[in-house]
Amino acid sequence: MKNILVLHTGGTISMSENDYGAVDTNSSNPLMKQANLSGEDFHVTSKEFMNLPSPHMTPETMLTLQQEIKQEYEKFDGFVITHGTDTLEETAYFLDLTLSSNKPIVVTGAMRSSNSIGSDGLHNLISAIRIAINNESRNRGVLVALNDQIHAARFVTKAHTTNVETFESPSVGPIGEVLHDTIAYYFNPKPIAPIQINQVVQQVYLLKAYAGMDADLFNHVAKKSGNGLIIEGTGAGNLPPTVLPALQKVIDHQIPVFLVARGYRGNAEPVYTYEGGGEQLVKMGVNFVHGLNGQKARIKLLIGISAGLSNDGLKEYLSNNF
Ligand code: ASP
Repeated sequence: MKNILVLHTGGTISMSENDYGAVDTNSSNPLMKQANLSGEDFHVTSKEFMNLPSPHMTPETMLTLQQEIKQEYEKFDGFVITHGTDTLEETAYFLDLTLSSNKPIVVTGAMRSSNSIGSDGLHNLISAIRIAINNESRNRGVLVALNDQIHAARFVTKAHTTNVETFESPSVGPIGEVLHDTIAYYFNPKPIAPIQINQVVQQVYLLKAYAGMDADLFNHVAKKSGNGLIIEGTGAGNLPPTVLPALQKVIDHQIPVFLVARGYRGNAEPVYTYEGGGEQLVKMGVNFVHGLNGQKARIKLLIGISAGLSNDGLKEYLSNNF
């Protein structure tokens, strides 16, 4: 008999639509009233752990969730977390980086609320439970499963605002699928060595570069003396020349600066030598991050700093994400 713990955290999967089509949080999660989710050879325990729309999630609430899983770890064979889809990838990646688990941890959500026509919530929850009880799901890191697809937390991102087919893993694709009778896996990402954190630092910023960007936001980061900065650079990793003096101030304040590409696919790589080109940014002290989008790189930087890493240790931690 396998024991699965479902931790609900909120999101559309636990919300309802009113007569005018507007969607909001319920005082209690309708999924908690769902008929027995257990089966012949597995038992499901459900807990309403939080009831937050996912834009209300913070690194602190992610840490609380991580601590709950750690506390319950020995009692269960697998874990399912329901979560709002907006920031689901950030929570999933946070758990992936900080939990040491060979047991399945599956994060799911829904694009249509619990009482909407064609609601995908119950289907996704049942699929996530099927994944969590499957032996093949062990040792695969934190998984994200919606719409019959299984993604690795480190690669997945929300790609569509409203469509049920929203989660994608750009460049690599899903690692598996939920089929009618079975769960199929196609490949396994390299394991991540978990890192230990007991608190999360504040003021780790994320800025997106754009044509005509001025120095204001960089000046603000330099003035605030933040803990770290992720920049989403244009193309392969370049910035408008107008921001460079302020960026230099940020670097001179010893604020670690990492750069990812703002494009949906591919990697940030220092290719260009013109003013603001990637080669020049590297010479200034900007570190390039491969394989992560901006919001994931921010989570990783925040975790690295929270774990006490700095300088070369932090660079090494952020460097390889495949
Ligand atoms: N805005 C909602 C949330 O992230 C979207 C969802 O759950 O799909 O909580």
